[in-house]
Amino acid sequence: MISPTAKESANPDLVLACNICGSEQIQKVDPEFNFCRCYSCGYVFDSPRPSFAQISAFYSQVGKYSAWLKEERARDMLWKRRLKKLLQCRAAGRLLDIGAGYGQFLHHARHFFSQVAGTEVSESAISIAREKYSLALLAGQVEEIQLPPQSFDTITLFHVLEHVPDPCALIHRCHTLLRPQGLLAIAVPNDVLAWTSRIKKIGKQLGLKPFQKFSPKFGISRAGASREIHLSHFTASVLRRLLENSGLRVIEESLDPYYVSRGVRLLLDSAYFGLHRILHAALKINRYDTIWIVARKP
Ligand SMILES: [Zn+2]
Repeated sequence: MISPTAKESANPDLVLACNICGSEQIQKVDPEFNFCRCYSCGYVFDSPRPSFAQISAFYSQVGKYSAWLKEERARDMLWKRRLKKLLQCRAAGRLLDIGAGYGQFLHHARHFFSQVAGTEVSESAISIAREKYSLALLAGQVEEIQLPPQSFDTITLFHVLEHVPDPCALIHRCHTLLRPQGLLAIAVPNDVLAWTSRIKKIGKQLGLKPFQKFSPKFGISRAGASREIHLSHFTASVLRRLLENSGLRVIEESLDPYYVSRGVRLLLDSAYFGLHRILHAALKINRYDTIWIVARKP
């Protein structure tokens, strides 16, 4: 464990206290890749992290959504899988999808809820949602958008929490916006514990060329080295702690069927997901690529 120097303390992109438990005992686990871990609760995060300007520029690159639009049918199947999973917990009522992208999930979900709403920070995604699905997404971060408290029955955060600088503030905001008995469904990558990360970590340690962009400690790539910038790398137990600290009760913990594929690849991805689902059901161990967790407001 290393205490921050005076120069580091002045760096606004350096995280000095754990966002989950507040501890200031931060371990620099992999300084070359900017990965730190809270000594107290095990939360892994980037520090120093890219500035807001760098993140904004990264996600404003031309054609950021064109790859998604090319995979439209496979993505339809993904959203239907997630919707089916969500509907096992809750149908009807008002739904809010935070970080809605260009609204593909809301497009499928609108038939099952009395009203749907979505927030999004990307202007290009908002305009695609308007033109393609006639959805009027709310622009900006949900913490800053004026919405009445206790106005939603279900809130979804699909691969959003790992991108935000203050996950704790976002979960508190969700708590405020949920009605009593309302549900919060979250999907995030399982970066730290997934078998795929372990394979990348071993590949890097063996010096194999295709694995050079991954951290030798976690098998995760540096922020921005892939198609995404992730600031947090959650495990299910850290996520559970975050939700419970915010006054929510976890009612379901499983795996997010996140794969986007067709044909033979779809069969292989489904089989790999099925294998991990059995492992999770039998032993409560999640070594799949993603985490799915649902919490209820008491
Ligand atoms: Zn902590």
